[in-house]
Amino acid sequence: METHEVVIIGSGPAGHTAAIYASRANLKPICLEGDEPGGQLTTTTDVENFPGFADGVLGPDLMISMKKQAERFGTVYVPTMVNEVDLSERPFKISCQNGDKLLAKTVIISTGATAKYLGLPNEMELIGKGVSGCATCDGFFYRNKVVHVVGGGDTAMEEASFLTKFASKVYVIHRRDTLRASMPMQERCLNNPKIEFVWNTQVNEILFNDTGVTGIKVENTQTGEVTERQTDGFFLGIGHSPNTSFLNGQLNLDDAGYIIPSNSPHPDTNIAGVFACGDVQDSYYRQAISAAGSGCMAAIRAEKFLEETPL
Ligand code: NDP
Repeated sequence: METHEVVIIGSGPAGHTAAIYASRANLKPICLEGDEPGGQLTTTTDVENFPGFADGVLGPDLMISMKKQAERFGTVYVPTMVNEVDLSERPFKISCQNGDKLLAKTVIISTGATAKYLGLPNEMELIGKGVSGCATCDGFFYRNKVVHVVGGGDTAMEEASFLTKFASKVYVIHRRDTLRASMPMQERCLNNPKIEFVWNTQVNEILFNDTGVTGIKVENTQTGEVTERQTDGFFLGIGHSPNTSFLNGQLNLDDAGYIIPSNSPHPDTNIAGVFACGDVQDSYYRQAISAAGSGCMAAIRAEKFLEETPL
């Protein structure tokens, strides 16, 4: 069986950028795309903060363009999820859902993170039409509009604060009457006149028409009273899940499941020859451009590692 120089797992901005750099270094990378090729950006519409696009770019178009760029230099994309990896010795072994088994001298993990959603009816269909898991990506479209954010942790506070730059009013819906967020983040929101908290409340339904979200139906968890609230945007701020379960504990992860870089600022992991880039190792920045930058670093690191430690 052929042993590949580099196998990249995941195809968001980090994975594609790693693929562009690795293929230009003639490492003939294989990129295992996962079940959402292009990652989180394929669930957004306009991306206006990725440098180089003066008029903005559609998230899915940006991902297709990055993929084409990597293919031009020889990256082979395989549309499959990874079931299992064995990182106990080189070459590393990768088993895919489509039945493929691969051997790799180096592995770049760029499987990203997934914003958590509530699981409400129509929630996923309304992404980009008023439902969003990313205020930084979509906040700009809510200038002078009313928005609701759900959650009581730092993510929700950060989203709510950010949204006050644009929205006329930001309501934070929280299922309890105390916040989980850190004290400075709490204070920032509690003292912001544009933000109003709706305590002890859960969201039961998203209301919408042909143009998108129009409101939410909420329930007071103490009294059981159900009311409807008008809103133009509904932002999820209940956290993100890094996609690391397939690693089966072989890499060092933090409490939330993010890969812990072992040799900062390099994108190394605790296993030599395994690198991590993008949101799977970053709960802080979570931007396409920072993910792409770390993808570049992971590929350069893999190239150097292969030079120094050929198999
Ligand atoms: P957390 O787990 O801290 O908070 C999630 C919040 O969402 C909680 O308030 C929780 O409610 C609520 N929630 C979860 N599930 C549901 C549900 N099904 N329905 C309604 N509400 C729900 O996640 P975060 O993403 O906020 O933070 C994760 C980590 O990242 C933390 O360590 C945080 O400090 C860090 N972080 C730091 C930032 C910064 O420093 N700038 C920014 C963002 C995150 P409940 O409280 O009732 O459990």
